[in-house]
Amino acid sequence: MSDALNIVILSRNRKLYSTRRLVEAIESRGHVARVIDPLRCYMNITSHRPEIHYNGMAIEPADAVIPRIGASITFYGTAVVRQFEMMGTFCVNESVAISRARDKLRSLQLLSRKGIGLPVTGFGYSPDDNLDLINMVGGAPLVIKLLEGTQGKGVVLAETNKAAESVIDAFRGLRAYFLTQEFISEAGGSDIRCFVVGDKVVGSMMRQAKDGEFRSNVHRGGSVRPIRITPEERSTAVRAAKIMGLNVSGVDIMRSNHGPVVLEVNSSPGLEGIETATGKDIAGHIVQFVEKHGRRGATRTRGK
Ligand code: ADP
Ligand code: GLU
Repeated sequence: MSDALNIVILSRNRKLYSTRRLVEAIESRGHVARVIDPLRCYMNITSHRPEIHYNGMAIEPADAVIPRIGASITFYGTAVVRQFEMMGTFCVNESVAISRARDKLRSLQLLSRKGIGLPVTGFGYSPDDNLDLINMVGGAPLVIKLLEGTQGKGVVLAETNKAAESVIDAFRGLRAYFLTQEFISEAGGSDIRCFVVGDKVVGSMMRQAKDGEFRSNVHRGGSVRPIRITPEERSTAVRAAKIMGLNVSGVDIMRSNHGPVVLEVNSSPGLEGIETATGKDIAGHIVQFVEKHGRRGATRTRGK
């Protein structure tokens, strides 16, 4: 078959649900899937012809790369993606877009610049500005978030201004950057994950926090169910993904009383929750996107 594509999945573990489903979706469409551990890729960055080595050999050129770069390996993982781009390989999410999305503050700034609805959010440096940072987002109850947290870790609900000040003092003591944020209580501990591929939301689910918890992360015991999103939520998700420059993303939205607000845009969204909740072949949508756009030499970036 001349149309068969050679697709690399950059993933640390081929047994992960998302990785397995991508392999299945690629092979069921007659393409070739290779799972490559980004941490085992090493690079020749001196030669004029960029190469990636793996297990002692130069990796054969691929038509496309599907990066699944976990937050803990962003630095090395994006360097590998960039090297593929330098080799002219189409990467479903570009290295710059992945790095951008991993920086929560930068992401919120970019989204706000384009008028995407966001929770009212404060960011500051000096302890002298603590009270203003709390008041700026409407005072207690408010949410305080560590900038480098994932899976709901480092996201705290402060019920009083005093509690907020203590949390902020503690974070500062750890020399950690944090955001103060309006608490969207009207969402009742739920948020919506919109899975965006290209310019479409291909699946959406509502995540509901367990009793006594305001964070809806599955890692925090949250449950999921499919949900119909409104046209406004759909366009918010698609615009947010586009602003971030991500072709595949998970856009987390909350229903606030000032409209849909984006919490974050995830560059390696998991497939298990969304496929289970919706019964949809989300991996298939990703591969269809690759079929449409991934051809050897099809990248525009060359590792910028
Ligand atoms: P993480 O990237 O660690 O998942 P999030 O910012 O997405 O961090 O927050 C984790 C969860 O906490 C969200 O899924 C949501 O359920 C809840 N949450 C976050 N921010 C707010 C907020 N401003 N108001 C109400 N709930 C929030
Ligand atoms: N990595 C998972 C995702 O991005 C986390 C899901 C969660 O904790 O809710 O979908």
